[in-house]
Amino acid sequence: MDCLFCAIIDGDIPSRQVYADDTAVAFLDINPLHRGHTLVVPRLHVSDVLADPETLSLIAPAIQRTGRLLVERLGADGMNLLVNSGAVAGQEVFHLHVHLIPRYADNPGMRGLLQRSPAADLDEVQRQIVGS
Ligand code: AMP
Repeated sequence: MDCLFCAIIDGDIPSRQVYADDTAVAFLDINPLHRGHTLVVPRLHVSDVLADPETLSLIAPAIQRTGRLLVERLGADGMNLLVNSGAVAGQEVFHLHVHLIPRYADNPGMRGLLQRSPAADLDEVQRQIVGS
């Protein structure tokens, strides 16, 4: 199977990982909307959130832990969680993933969600989150 996120989980394609457990891996989105934009991806290949009844709840602890990490390490003031299901909804990678999009007080509200913040150095953001 030719799946970008399976290849990232297997370590065949590099990513900036910020969290991992038995169920999921979390890494920085390569094209972030806001500083610290992260994808939480189940280790199990499931094409999208509607394709399987259990996977989203299986990775719920990983989503919560990663979200806490982003808030604590980056000083985010809030967060949008987003799951795109189907190409018409904007899904581009067909391996279920949850977008964790940290939000900051200087650009609040739903209207600010798609207004990208200035490009950040992803290596520096990863260091700030994982503390090395
Ligand atoms: P979606 O549109 O919901 O399928 O989101 C796919 C996300 O994957 C987009 O936000 C992309 O920027 C992100 N993405 C694509 N390739 C990579 C990659 N190699 N590493 C990290 N994020 C990626």
